[in-house]
Amino acid sequence: MIPNKDRGFDTLRARGLRLTRPRRLILDVVRATDAHPTAAFVYQRVRRRLPRVSLATVHRNLRMLAAEGFLAERADAGGMRFDGNTAPHDHFTCLACGRIYDVPGRTERSVRRRVAAPIGFEVLEHRTEYYGRCVACRRQRGRPPVTQYRRSYGRPQGH
Ligand SMILES: [Zn+2]
Ligand SMILES: [Zn+2]
Repeated sequence: MIPNKDRGFDTLRARGLRLTRPRRLILDVVRATDAHPTAAFVYQRVRRRLPRVSLATVHRNLRMLAAEGFLAERADAGGMRFDGNTAPHDHFTCLACGRIYDVPGRTERSVRRRVAAPIGFEVLEHRTEYYGRCVACRRQRGRPPVTQYRRSYGRPQGH
């Protein structure tokens, strides 16, 4: 997936947002990873550069950047995740390691038609969630089977 790193801070200025240092760093951190980080993850990273920043500040700015469309946020069983990729895309969640991957390409039109036609609804947006084992976990021998992780699903480790 190609993260939309090209959307620069000029856009941010054009929208009238104050370009504070924490805000710039927060956006950088989220866009630099495809791990769909939590606020806590972003906080840990931002703190390396701004030791006095608070989790509340990071969280508030994440929500604000998401509301302005610079980031996407997604509710997860384990809490809120933030996505630097704001283009429409689906996600694959690995049930073994808990990592969330972007899945490029969607079949929007056919899905919308299939869902909407029989009931007369108008579908404006949809998303598909895939679950399974990622390439890294499939290659890793000795990984406990996915079933042992199902109970802890939503509390991914390492991200
Ligand atoms: Zn995995
Ligand atoms: Zn994503």
